[in-house]
Amino acid sequence: QRLKRVTKAETTCGFCAVGCRFDLYGKDGEVLGTRPADPDATPANGYSTCVKGKFGYDFANSDERLETPLIRRKDAPDGPAGPDGFREASWDEALSRVVEELRETRETHGRDSLAVFSSSKATNEENFLMQKFARQVLGTKNVDNCTRLCHSSTVAALKQTMGYGAMSNRIKDVGNADCYLITGSNTTESHPVLATKLKQNVRDGADLFVFEPRRIELAEHADQFTRTAGGHDIAWINGMIRHIIENDLHDEAFIEERTKGFEDVREKVQSFTPEKVEELTDVSPEELANAAETIAEADSCVFGWAMGISQHTYGTQTVLALADLALVTGHVGKPNAGVSPFRGQNNVQGGGGDMGTIPDNLPGYQDITDDDVLDQFEDAWGVRPPDEPGLRVTEVFDEVDEGNVRGMYVIGENPAISEPDVTNARESLAELDFLVVQDIFVTETAEYADVILPAATFTEKYGTVTNTERRVQLVHPAVDPPGSARADWKILQELARRMGFDWQYDSPTDIMDEVNELTPIYGGITHERLEEKGDGLQWPCPDEDHPGTPYLYEDEFNFEDGKARFVPADLGDPTELPNEEFPIALTSGRVLYHWHTGQLTRRSEGLMGHVGESYAEIHPQTAGQIGVADGEYVEVESKRGSIVVRAKVTERTAPGKIFIPMHFAEGAVNELTQEELDPVSRIPDYKLASVRVSSM
Ligand code: SF4
Repeated sequence: QRLKRVTKAETTCGFCAVGCRFDLYGKDGEVLGTRPADPDATPANGYSTCVKGKFGYDFANSDERLETPLIRRKDAPDGPAGPDGFREASWDEALSRVVEELRETRETHGRDSLAVFSSSKATNEENFLMQKFARQVLGTKNVDNCTRLCHSSTVAALKQTMGYGAMSNRIKDVGNADCYLITGSNTTESHPVLATKLKQNVRDGADLFVFEPRRIELAEHADQFTRTAGGHDIAWINGMIRHIIENDLHDEAFIEERTKGFEDVREKVQSFTPEKVEELTDVSPEELANAAETIAEADSCVFGWAMGISQHTYGTQTVLALADLALVTGHVGKPNAGVSPFRGQNNVQGGGGDMGTIPDNLPGYQDITDDDVLDQFEDAWGVRPPDEPGLRVTEVFDEVDEGNVRGMYVIGENPAISEPDVTNARESLAELDFLVVQDIFVTETAEYADVILPAATFTEKYGTVTNTERRVQLVHPAVDPPGSARADWKILQELARRMGFDWQYDSPTDIMDEVNELTPIYGGITHERLEEKGDGLQWPCPDEDHPGTPYLYEDEFNFEDGKARFVPADLGDPTELPNEEFPIALTSGRVLYHWHTGQLTRRSEGLMGHVGESYAEIHPQTAGQIGVADGEYVEVESKRGSIVVRAKVTERTAPGKIFIPMHFAEGAVNELTQEELDPVSRIPDYKLASVRVSSM
């Protein structure tokens, strides 16, 4: 029964990880709209939301919502099944089929022939159950999350240097910093409300340095916009560190008292002379010196970055360099300063790592090889979790090709659009013996499924999500799920029971109780407290008397000796550069009006009205060479595939480079991107590919 009256639910936006709070209104099963909530209970956004928060909810009302389970017809073609390729099924039939296939795959090919891909669109409670389902019920070590594709390099580098793979400060403080270094982040479009705070503070006098290959909107507000060549960001960051040390601008007391390994970094950066930096990056010695000196002398500096930094084969090294810069200037562990990876989906911090949906950590970043940790989980679950790291999602598809992974359970993700060199990923999906997809639409990935299970979306759920500043906030339902669709946790529980595990959760609160018990950084983050507080709690919050942690590392870094580690960053080489055959450098990214693979925003009329199709930003000079005018179609080819998109002729992008958004199935940029992975985090390089562009 759908709710039959107007309901108001205080909730958290379902798009980006700024985590804006608003009231969501619903009636008769339809979401009616959003309104800013009490500003005291909305620390990330106050009264603001961006266009997605205001208008981007109508996907939830779409006629295309899945309302009943679907099973692939026996006569459906191999690969994508098409609109007639599925038949409706009862929950009982669909779940029986899933259980039977998962069991058979496991019995025939072993536990690790199964892989689970979980979603940062689902709540913390649901992600906790996803990894529990993988490790306890299926017994597989292969569980991963979409964070692999966006900030896994960030997490790897920050864990090495500071101890937690997370933003150290809070969004409120981003609005109060003395100075900003923003790089690899189109903040205005990807994290709009956060960018508004930042720009307000810049108008009030804070210094803003933007280092980017594209002339993004934030550049218009910068004291210094430096158009970098792209591909060698480590060089200018190490060059800045060198300049700071050479000019005695480093924070000696901080380095002495709170860090280890400074001499290694001092030695490493010696070779990054201003001349070398300029040659590699187009950053002039004057720009380098000006930014380095202002940052070092500022009372507080926020180092903000996103996927322009993290999504490279040397992403981990670049974030190490940024962490070194933050440490050398002492801008960590104090108010209004810190390392600020601007993360992606609304629950990417919680679902993407905190809840253990990653192959090397149990919930709370507890090491999967630690016997004491494993003992605790075994006591709680009656089953010892696998004690070695599993496959990262970017490795799973290769293992499918090798015949080592035979079954996959994909929850809320769309690898048929989001994987790099997506043609390969689609072939792998088609090769699987069994694929179950749990989602709210028949996504491009679901087209390959054997069984599709209809799930609920954020407008229909109760639970928690954790935004980019580690703030755990509640979501409340404004409407019921359509038809017989169910919340992910209910589907997982039913499957677990059918596979012989007596899960007894009456509500997400029961799941959170287990999270509190097994996850020390969430030990004191109970639903009861969150309902009382309204404005959420930032982890670590180890017990119910703890107030949460607005900024990390105030007293010590997260290592036994409390000291941060300088780790010298090696200059990585781009794995693909423009050449005679493919002379143009392609980068991909986001636009304000869309979100990820576009499953939600492409179904929102208001948002599609602004940007309704894929396109390529091309510099006028390059457009002239190709012979294409603004608005005409071009073919873009890499050695992996080709797409046709409309040309948008603009000076935002540099000559010889093009930009294509990531959100569209028609003109999908990942038909062109490369599969090379960062050796540490296994994140793909979505930001550099060589292409040729021709007029049509
Ligand atoms: Fe939603 Fe992000 Fe926009 Fe806030 S800034 S309304 S969280 S998309």
